[in-house]
Amino acid sequence: MKLETPRPVHLKDYRPPAYLIDRVHLDVSLEPTRTRVHSKLSIKPNTKAAGRREPLRLDGEHLELAEIALDGKPLGKKDYKLTDTSLTLVKTPSAPFTLDITTFVNPEANKALQGIYRSNNVYCSQCEAQGFRRITYFLDRPDVLATYTVRIDADPHAAPILLSNGNLKERGTLDGGKRHYAVWHDPHPKPSYLFALVGGDLAPISSTFRTKSGRKVDLAIYVEHGKEARAAWAMDSLKRAMRWDEVRFGREYDLDVFNIVAVSDFNMGAMENKGLNIFNDRLILASPETATDTIFEAIESVVAHEYFHNWTGNRITCRDWFQLCLKEGLTVYRDQEFSADERSATVQRIIDVRQLKTHQFAEDAGPLAHPVRPESYIEINNFYTSTVYEKGAEVVRMIATILGRDGFRKGMDLYFERHDGEAATVDEFVSCFEDATGTDLSQFKLWYAQAGTPQIIANLRYDKDKKTADLELEQIVPPTPGQPSKKPMHLPIRLGLLGGNGHDLDLKLSNGEEIADGVVSLTRRRQSFRFVDIPSRPVPSLLRGFSAPVNLTLDLPDEDVELLMASDSDLFNRWQAANDYATRTLIEAVSGRGSNKRSSRALRYVRALGAAVSGDNLEPAYRAELLKLPTQADIARIIGKNVDPALVHRAHRQLAKLIGKTLGPQLEALYRAVDDKGPFSPDAASAGRRALRNAALTLLTARGTPADIGRLAKHYAKATNMTDRAHALFLLAARGGPEAKAALANFYEAWRKDHVVIDTWFAAQAQSPLASTLSRVKALTKHPLFALTAPNKVRALIGTFAASNPVQFNRPDGAGYAFLADQVLALDRLNPQIAARMLGTMRSWRSLESGRRAKAKKALQRIIRAKRLSPDVQEIASRILEA
Ligand SMILES: [Zn+2]
Repeated sequence: MKLETPRPVHLKDYRPPAYLIDRVHLDVSLEPTRTRVHSKLSIKPNTKAAGRREPLRLDGEHLELAEIALDGKPLGKKDYKLTDTSLTLVKTPSAPFTLDITTFVNPEANKALQGIYRSNNVYCSQCEAQGFRRITYFLDRPDVLATYTVRIDADPHAAPILLSNGNLKERGTLDGGKRHYAVWHDPHPKPSYLFALVGGDLAPISSTFRTKSGRKVDLAIYVEHGKEARAAWAMDSLKRAMRWDEVRFGREYDLDVFNIVAVSDFNMGAMENKGLNIFNDRLILASPETATDTIFEAIESVVAHEYFHNWTGNRITCRDWFQLCLKEGLTVYRDQEFSADERSATVQRIIDVRQLKTHQFAEDAGPLAHPVRPESYIEINNFYTSTVYEKGAEVVRMIATILGRDGFRKGMDLYFERHDGEAATVDEFVSCFEDATGTDLSQFKLWYAQAGTPQIIANLRYDKDKKTADLELEQIVPPTPGQPSKKPMHLPIRLGLLGGNGHDLDLKLSNGEEIADGVVSLTRRRQSFRFVDIPSRPVPSLLRGFSAPVNLTLDLPDEDVELLMASDSDLFNRWQAANDYATRTLIEAVSGRGSNKRSSRALRYVRALGAAVSGDNLEPAYRAELLKLPTQADIARIIGKNVDPALVHRAHRQLAKLIGKTLGPQLEALYRAVDDKGPFSPDAASAGRRALRNAALTLLTARGTPADIGRLAKHYAKATNMTDRAHALFLLAARGGPEAKAALANFYEAWRKDHVVIDTWFAAQAQSPLASTLSRVKALTKHPLFALTAPNKVRALIGTFAASNPVQFNRPDGAGYAFLADQVLALDRLNPQIAARMLGTMRSWRSLESGRRAKAKKALQRIIRAKRLSPDVQEIASRILEA
């Protein structure tokens, strides 16, 4: 196969398509190695691109072209030009015409998992971003919207279930029962990336939903036979999400059926195809015995996310892939709000911010930094990033913070009204909020264009004679690849000032301006705010609820941090203060100050933590978050350069041990007090009690007395649910020894026949900080249950090792990097998208100390020098190396 040199695509080069496709009739005859696809396309010149008379060029990859006809007349080889990626007509009619194209594809051989492929004998499809061109020749771009009628036929024994988008129109048998077929019609025009089909032997669980206007919708979730009961939570989540979108955003579902199919091999978490969502089965299947609370929460949130896309993504789609955040950032914001309403809003915010900082802040601080709306890409699959998703959600959240809840809703209503049925842009989205509320968001829009995490340097000066407090804020947006200098941004800062008793003081600005909802706007590089009538030196509580995704530098004395930890009325900031205090303590230990002895700061932190956690009026889930230390990756990111991951690991372990020792009796009491004896419930309150109990167990295990290890082994053995069992398994695997061996053997025996649950067994071993881990991980790549072709296995073993085991992945001898390079190169031959994802775990290599940095560089250079790299890996490797 000829490989063309991958060329970047630029946002500034966008042009409307020269042709549009109104209607698509697809006829798909499913066969494992030779599936025939016949497509009939109704094509017309695009009046919006009038004057551009150019030949019709269709995208197509990995296709075998059998026949092509224009308005019913077969075309000969001289009538079109075929390359590895396209089909171009030599003469294109100037009036509307139809094209009939027959192609063949091989689902069985498709290990890239884009287009039509087979997973566990189920035919399924994945078209976002550019998979449809692996099914047939097409204008495979999101601004070409067509209605689809899809006829699928298959062997009825191999594929009794045949599904596509929209509503079922017809079904029947053929050839005396040797084949059967189904016809689906989707009346809503959609881009090709939302096309889906499924054929397989699957079992449904069914339910119905009545929308607020009275439309009855048939709901079904299709899973492997025998696993139907495990889909109940997903169904429950779906119905709650459908109701929530009606109440919160006034959005109703618009088809007669909504289907979800769970498959075992999937590159992403899930896909929002119109009326036919396809899910990675780890995000559908859950029972108390098989899934942790984290998985239950993830299922609830991802089922909601994909459902919410029906309006934000499907009804209004993206004009081009540079606008990806238009659907993703907005839909992540919506699913976060849903989870906040269904669970504890504060705990949800803590979890979301933790995620954001660990993944997105790290991305923004390294060579892969890019704006929420990128300017160019080589492979769009590389831009399904935490910047587009999570930072994109933060940008939407800031709009809501600036406009208030009602103003935000008005803007959303206008967006739905104005752009329904269209392919829109970020600029059009923002205009809706400006027009609906009369607010100027032109400076705010820099959030979409400028990469990098802004740094806010804050200073508070109190004048006890004038009773004034001056808050000085300075913003610095760091340089990022391709963007050496930045303009000041518009940042909403939610704040409070605490008096000596820990209560909020009234906020009055000297210029008389009102502070709505405790939010001030920082729009200049430096800005100061004078608060009046402040009776005594206040303690500032800034960025309440994490009102902007920034790094805040505020040099408060430890006593002030302790006051915030004890009494900030904003519970998010109370947690943030605890986290900052832990971070200070850890960084002090890593730098050598205060190491090997119990520094007074460490002890003070631990005592403050003990006091903060003891509040019985606080939710257990919240107290569990207080007890979790910042991750080693967070500490490494904050240190920023010359990082020695072994020192970070040691400091982290020592602090956990100090907490376990100092707060031992309190933690033991907590561990006993929140032990639920009743039947399992996945609700937020029960999950919170398990989280608190497990957080206490983690710290007691860090203390490490024989009694503590005994408690841990018993926790594993007596666990009645996967949350407790998996938590204990990770802690045991991290320690090693006979208890770990026994638990791993027990877990393997219990779950080796379950391809979802067994991933926990792979991950627990990959995450162990023991020196033997790399050789164990290498051995596990040869395990019969491991397969490089299964993305979930790759993520559980290789992904966990590279992303969640800083001390062993960053071994000083460089063997961790060499292992990852081997795996990336092997994976690239099968599934470039996953290979590029795995390689992304190397993005912070420049912040390492020199010895490790040199070894990481060597591994990266070996990758980039390899022959026949995919554009996916090529792009990531060169960006990581060059920046
Ligand atoms: Zn999404």
